[in-house]
Amino acid sequence: MSLIISGGTVVTADGRFQADVRVDGGKITALGLDLAQSGDEITDASGKHVLPGGIDVHTHLSMPSMGTVTCDDYYTGQVAAAMGGTTTHLDFCIQSKGSSLRAALDTWHGRAKGQAVIDYGFHVAVTDPLPEVLDEIAGLPDQGVTSIKLFLAYKDTLQVDDTAMFRCLERARDAGVLTLVHAENGDAIEILMAEAIARGETAPKYHALTRPPELEAEATGRAIALAEVLGAPLYIVHLSCRPALARVREAQARGARVTAETCTQYFFFTKDDLDRPGFEGAKWVCSPPLREKEDQAALWAAVGDGTLSVISTDHCPFRFDTQKTLGKDNFTLIPNGVPGIEERLVVLHQAGVRGGHFSLERFVALTATNPARSFGLGGVKGAIAPGYDADLALWDLERPHTITAKTNHGAVDYSLYEGMEVRGMPVTVFVRGQTVINQGRLITERGSGQFLHRQRI
Ligand SMILES: [Zn+2]
Repeated sequence: MSLIISGGTVVTADGRFQADVRVDGGKITALGLDLAQSGDEITDASGKHVLPGGIDVHTHLSMPSMGTVTCDDYYTGQVAAAMGGTTTHLDFCIQSKGSSLRAALDTWHGRAKGQAVIDYGFHVAVTDPLPEVLDEIAGLPDQGVTSIKLFLAYKDTLQVDDTAMFRCLERARDAGVLTLVHAENGDAIEILMAEAIARGETAPKYHALTRPPELEAEATGRAIALAEVLGAPLYIVHLSCRPALARVREAQARGARVTAETCTQYFFFTKDDLDRPGFEGAKWVCSPPLREKEDQAALWAAVGDGTLSVISTDHCPFRFDTQKTLGKDNFTLIPNGVPGIEERLVVLHQAGVRGGHFSLERFVALTATNPARSFGLGGVKGAIAPGYDADLALWDLERPHTITAKTNHGAVDYSLYEGMEVRGMPVTVFVRGQTVINQGRLITERGSGQFLHRQRI
């Protein structure tokens, strides 16, 4: 007996067409008209668009940071993701100083075990590049991990220096591992933050003012230069501004192996949001910070022309009432990060597709197909074709919805998009052919999501 998703409009990165989707053993086995046979289980998708489930390659669930822990665990964060049409995410596993990458992975596997409702993988962040830790990079692909992350910001906690970056890029290149970089100059930022605090500039808006775009561009260019010398593949996470974009564009024109993402919030908000009345602006504190209107326009253009190939969330949720308030009297103590795993696809569909910035096909490419290809999930996730996992989201492109934290499903107590009206929602979501969301209701079991062994890059 097969599952037949019948009568919908299938949308891929390359086009759209009327087709039934046949699913056997969790995989797509056929596309075509009138596939149903007697005994098949039928899901009626007439009037719906059938998209690949979203892939969010940048999330932080249950992550200790700045004296607290992100408020979504693997269950709440993944339920929120699934409700928003996302069926796979890649989460950051952080090495503890003096400890091994293996130990970090064990810790994160423990956090996810028995909780997952969608599929997931890990990037491992190298924060303490001891010789034996560098030696571990070669063995990561055997553990299903084919990407590492380096922070060039967060001095004295996560930041690594250029020696470490160069060595990691080299080891990663040799192992078939992609290196991800948080590109901001943490040394300069540390000084700017200390000077601001000394002047009594403690409000959230100073978070943005002490992390200027030039320092993102500098670190982006530096990482690109080191990667180019080594011929190593490089992926710039959460690119936010025009000067950093220019560095990526120039490198790609030279033929460098550089890809880059931006994140949803950079299209919708600016540094002015950090200056909202009272302490409200803390909700918008993330790094790199929100920029200017002109940067938003440049990012829309860059996701259209391919300079940026992925839109992820950097979902890093902290509750306003007990966590963001840690920095009430000092912006440097505000936990850095914003929520967005549930809203990503609906707000990008609204502003990106309905707003005329890109087609529905390009939306699929940016939020599912390209992330899969970039992160070793090609042929498995992110597309609708025989042989792929049946990770599918049935969208009602006309369904109206007003975004509010009250009806969101994660653990965070606010939404950046509070009150935003959208038209177009995922209503039914499958992970490997199993229904996770049906008509907007969660019906899967905790623990049904699987860890993904990703291919070498
Ligand atoms: Zn992040």
